Amino acid sequence: MTELFRPLNALLFPLALTLLSLALLPGLPPLPAPWPQALPWLPLFLGVPMLLLAWHFNNSRALLACLLALLGYTLALQPSLSTPLLKTLVLLLLPLNLLLISIYRERGILSPPGLLRFALVLAQGGLVLWASNTPPPWLHHWLYPQWGERIVAWSGLPAPVLATLALGALILLVRAWRSPGGLHGYLLATLVLSAWPLANGLEGRENHLLISLTLALWLLALLKRSHEMAYIDELTGLPGRRALEEARLRLGRKHSVAMLDVDHFKAFNDRYGHDVGDQVLKLVASRLARVRPGKAYRYGGEEFCILFPRRRARDVLEPLERVRQSVADAELQLRGPDRPRKSRDGKKQRGQRQGARRTVSVTISIGVAEARPRQDSVKQADQALYRAKKQGRNRVCL
Ligand code: GH3
Ligand code: MG
Ligand code: MG
Repeated sequence: MTELFRPLNALLFPLALTLLSLALLPGLPPLPAPWPQALPWLPLFLGVPMLLLAWHFNNSRALLACLLALLGYTLALQPSLSTPLLKTLVLLLLPLNLLLISIYRERGILSPPGLLRFALVLAQGGLVLWASNTPPPWLHHWLYPQWGERIVAWSGLPAPVLATLALGALILLVRAWRSPGGLHGYLLATLVLSAWPLANGLEGRENHLLISLTLALWLLALLKRSHEMAYIDELTGLPGRRALEEARLRLGRKHSVAMLDVDHFKAFNDRYGHDVGDQVLKLVASRLARVRPGKAYRYGGEEFCILFPRRRARDVLEPLERVRQSVADAELQLRGPDRPRKSRDGKKQRGQRQGARRTVSVTISIGVAEARPRQDSVKQADQALYRAKKQGRNRVCL
């Protein structure tokens, strides 16, 4: 998948489902029995496993987003509870809260920062209820300014609310585009799916369907994440050992395998520290991920494996030689005491003081083996790697 399609793909799933459901909703025919009776139970049916899963994964962001969505759902469902002012306040706070969830790092549910976030949402609930029962006079002027009335009349929403919703959606969209692996796309879907029924005063059936879609999306997001946790190595972003073992089962009789190991890495760690060692592993992994043909996996520790389905060993020697060279040429800049933490400042400084840089680099040894009847190709590649080490490291051995 190219770099351009990755963000598109990550966004497409939650957002396309959201927009499609909003487009189809008005024309939805009456549901056949027993759906009309079952529909009000659907949010419960999806919400309980979703909340339990978020709790189990200690994912406070998913839990908070779903609680906010459920709050909007309850309000939209109870017209007697929700005065226009209450709805307006909720529509104003919803994007702000989802934005906060998008910005802050995951810190768990029962940790002090996690509990503080839940307390903040609860406090807002209290404030909103108080403000909608006994609204202070300034609130009305502030929420319904005269200047915006004519411009936003088409939406039926006050100008500050419409502006906050639009800005919140835009920022979430940009964040989802920039880090496609995150939860921002799901937060954007939650914003749209929760604000829509409130803003449009939708009736029961539509509400049940939209909250069910929100909860189902979060359920899928958490399942996707747990799948990634099992199959993707967190440090390097490469598929891990479990993914490798599964991919090996799918390999045909004709294939080649390369085993790669960082040279003298123990000494490197001892000299520069484990953190720098981790940065180097990331750097090596980013080079290995580019090898074509073939697919790279983190085998464990500082060892990697590349599978080449349908390739003879002689076909893969050249790309492996190129990746060996590219790792040897790559330089990691050490974060010295004067190295700026912001990358923009770093670029500026690098431009000014080329001589002051301190860089480190590593080499890798590679063993290659071709599939042979009754032989374990990974084991064969490991033996070739051993030969590469013995012959002096930083080389490819067949
Ligand atoms: P050789 O050239 O023979 O491969 O020597 P080596 O020192 O690389 O070999 P050895 O297997 O003895 O050492 C591997 C070291 O890799 C040990 C451990 O400190 C380091 N290592 C393994 N996993 C990680 C990791 O995730 N991060 C860091 N920073 N170091 C790791
Ligand atoms: Mg090793
Ligand atoms: Mg090593």
